[in-house]
Amino acid sequence: MSDKQASFYKSVERNFDKAAQLTSHPKGLLAQIKACNAIYQMNFPVKIGKNYEVIEAYRVQHSQHRLPTKGGIRFSHLVNQEEVMALATLMTYKCALVDVPFGGAKGGVKVSTREYTAEQLEKITRRYAVELVRKNFIGPGIDVPAPDYGTGSREMAWILDTYQQLNNGELDSAACVTGKPVNQNGIRGRTEATGRGVFYGLREMLSNEADCKEWGISPGIAGKTMVIQGLGNVGSYTGSISIEEGDVKVICVSEIEGSIYSEKGIDIKKLLKYRKQKGSIIGFPGTKRLKERGDWVSVECDILVPAALESQINKSNAKKVKAKIIAEAANGPVTADAEKILLKKGVIIAPDMFLNAGGVTVSYFEWLKNLSHVRYGRIEKRFDQNAYTNIVNLVEDLTGKTISDKRKSFITRGADEVDLVRSGLEETMITAYGSIRDVYKRKKKVEDLRTAAFITAIDKIANDYLTMGVFP
Ligand code: GLU
Repeated sequence: MSDKQASFYKSVERNFDKAAQLTSHPKGLLAQIKACNAIYQMNFPVKIGKNYEVIEAYRVQHSQHRLPTKGGIRFSHLVNQEEVMALATLMTYKCALVDVPFGGAKGGVKVSTREYTAEQLEKITRRYAVELVRKNFIGPGIDVPAPDYGTGSREMAWILDTYQQLNNGELDSAACVTGKPVNQNGIRGRTEATGRGVFYGLREMLSNEADCKEWGISPGIAGKTMVIQGLGNVGSYTGSISIEEGDVKVICVSEIEGSIYSEKGIDIKKLLKYRKQKGSIIGFPGTKRLKERGDWVSVECDILVPAALESQINKSNAKKVKAKIIAEAANGPVTADAEKILLKKGVIIAPDMFLNAGGVTVSYFEWLKNLSHVRYGRIEKRFDQNAYTNIVNLVEDLTGKTISDKRKSFITRGADEVDLVRSGLEETMITAYGSIRDVYKRKKKVEDLRTAAFITAIDKIANDYLTMGVFP
């Protein structure tokens, strides 16, 4: 295991300790909150072509103070036990922070997805799901996986199908996994959820004039420049939604093949199409290539968005950061050592457990939808629409004025599933930031938003344990 990988878990532990000592909870309780409760490491054979390969995989349940446990499954050749432990741990605090009533978990399968065909990946995914079922590490009330780096709705559909084959007739089985395709019991708005949550979170942070003044940033998200590392699901939606709904200018994008820059701004949707055609972001019209791939770190900008893997901003490159805000769209992209350097420089870090919580928030909505067996908005949409139309007609009658059809249909529209999901997500991000900010402002020794977020989460989990009667 490389230092970088081992230090991810240590970074999370260091951040926890930094916050925990500012709380007044008993030591034993803090130790229980910190510990990873269950670690399942598995090796299983899969026939690939004519040969058998032994696949190494994990599922870690960090905390069962609330059930089910929840967290994505990562497919990457870098997967290792400590990484999955770190990611599972972050899930616990993330869920607590945004009031999603789950414990934290994470899964990892050590495979490089580029080296396998879709059929081979299906075999691996289904076999992994069987292992989880066999050890009781999956189920609507036990542990509910979701997508993460290297996986998406396709893998979730395979997991659901495998689970249902083994649990025939289980009424709530669709809730055993989230992030499913919409036509396979998924929910509208889940795919974009993490990126959209990043946007709502940033917009909220930048909406407070006094805070912005303190940070030396002009208030409001509009017109801010953004650099994005990683054009996967999270990075691409963060970019496109920030451009469309926040009037943000994305000036640099970094991917495996290199980094590109344009002072005028990069259209993320067009860039995605270009990459699909050419297999690379390099050469995208109107952009220039940066000398080194890692140069994205040192681009002058308002918001730097690491949206790929952990430990991308570390001791070796933290000094080069010229951004005012680092927006942790990925999990653990800034190491604890790097954070020290950045805080000294006055860089504001929007912590992962808050900023990328949109994914698990909408997963929670999907889980609720699956348990209630009805699409959001199905029951009330038409009723609301009729009621609003009656009000608008009444206003017209009473005033003698006519409202244009366009305006009328905007006002009278009943909410669809995606409208409700987005509004639930927006509300969640605003409320969560409010609770972090309270701690940040109220507690004297809290010098950064991550510590404030940790304290907020720890207090909630501690309260759960105490009211459970585990720690009298
Ligand atoms: N993998 C995502 C995360 O890190 C989503 C987890 C989920 O939806 O359960 O938050």
